Amino acid sequence: MAKKTIIDINLKDKKVLMRVDFNVPMKDGLITDENRIVQAIPTIQYAIEQGAKIILLSHLGRVAEEKDLSKTLAPVAARLSELLGQGVNFVNETKGELLENEILNLKSGNVLMIENTRFEDLNGKSESKNNPELGKYWASLGDVFINDAFGTAHRAHASNVGIASNIAESGIGFLLEKEVKFLGDAVDEPKRPFVAVLGGAKVSDKIDVIERLLEVADKIIIGGGMAYTFLKALGEEIGSSLLEEEKLDYAHEMLAKAEGKIILPVDSVYASHFGEDAIARVGKSDSVKPEELGLDIGPKTSEIFTNELLKAKTVVWNGPMGVSEWEQFRAGTIAVCEALANSDALTIVGGGDSAAAAIQFGYEDKVSHISTGGGASLQYLEGKPLPGLDSIQNKGE
Ligand code: ADP
Ligand code: MG
Repeated sequence: MAKKTIIDINLKDKKVLMRVDFNVPMKDGLITDENRIVQAIPTIQYAIEQGAKIILLSHLGRVAEEKDLSKTLAPVAARLSELLGQGVNFVNETKGELLENEILNLKSGNVLMIENTRFEDLNGKSESKNNPELGKYWASLGDVFINDAFGTAHRAHASNVGIASNIAESGIGFLLEKEVKFLGDAVDEPKRPFVAVLGGAKVSDKIDVIERLLEVADKIIIGGGMAYTFLKALGEEIGSSLLEEEKLDYAHEMLAKAEGKIILPVDSVYASHFGEDAIARVGKSDSVKPEELGLDIGPKTSEIFTNELLKAKTVVWNGPMGVSEWEQFRAGTIAVCEALANSDALTIVGGGDSAAAAIQFGYEDKVSHISTGGGASLQYLEGKPLPGLDSIQNKGE
């Protein structure tokens, strides 16, 4: 059933509660990657043009202590204001009279942002556990709810599901609509060959997606730390590379089920220890010494992966090919970016760290879509429901 979208709702002079995903990485009070803010602009801008009174809600990280200044959304409100070219009124509260008065004072086209919703987690995890009173309270502040936060759509929190369940009218924003369309098209009716690229540190993070992808993808390329558990399952030596011992049986089972669909590295960049300054060398998988760890795929592997990717018509990528935070171990991840850029496939980057890498290495505009939600995109690819989406009204309701 199609979800109601912001276009389907009359916003004029309405108090519109909008859940956005401004959970951006910050360092010393500065935003280090503003992709999520930039991606939210079209929906906010549209609501402004429609004459809505906009009240933005977002979380930022996890809040464990009172008055934790590193968790305030104030710098995000300031940056949003610059990007919109108009004032954004920031209220340093998540409920109460001050906030309610500010909302009453809103004029059509005004934008107000409330403090990080996770400050409510200091009250018995009210936000993250979707406390019904909190959802009801927030819903009471507005007339309409728009959910445009894809990054939290896989969680049922008070600021998405709680509000949606307690308000007269709800819809999704342009970003959420776009995210679901890209991922949905890729897995539901992919142009083939459909190649999935998985990487990152842990097999356990991506277990369910591997199983699902085996059903729908033509090839699954596995790099990153998780590849070594698969190589070990095939009986190869992996030195001191990342290994999830308790996942060996699972890896074995998947490889058997895959009937050749899974492609693994044949060489690696081996490091003398786990460190940015480690001594690194390229070597074939069978050359690894006991103390060495594979921290990136090697050049031969990059070549094999690239060839596979250039044949693809749909690519979904989740997880870097190595420790791409460190210069010595990012060539494999860059090779995947480059292959995606040179392919004529629909290319979707789904994970948090892989998305950050693609942007950092300059490939933002060279792929079809970079998702703003790592966990949510994985959950969607796994074929599991997204409560933040499901709780929104259907078209015609
Ligand atoms: P994403 O956020 O894109 O889904 P993950 O969070 O699953 O990706 O994994 C990213 C992390 O995996 C990065 O911090 C990266 O350093 C780490 N990683 C990648 N390859 C290796 C490796 N060979 N050994 C150890 N860590 C790795
Ligand atoms: Mg990650």
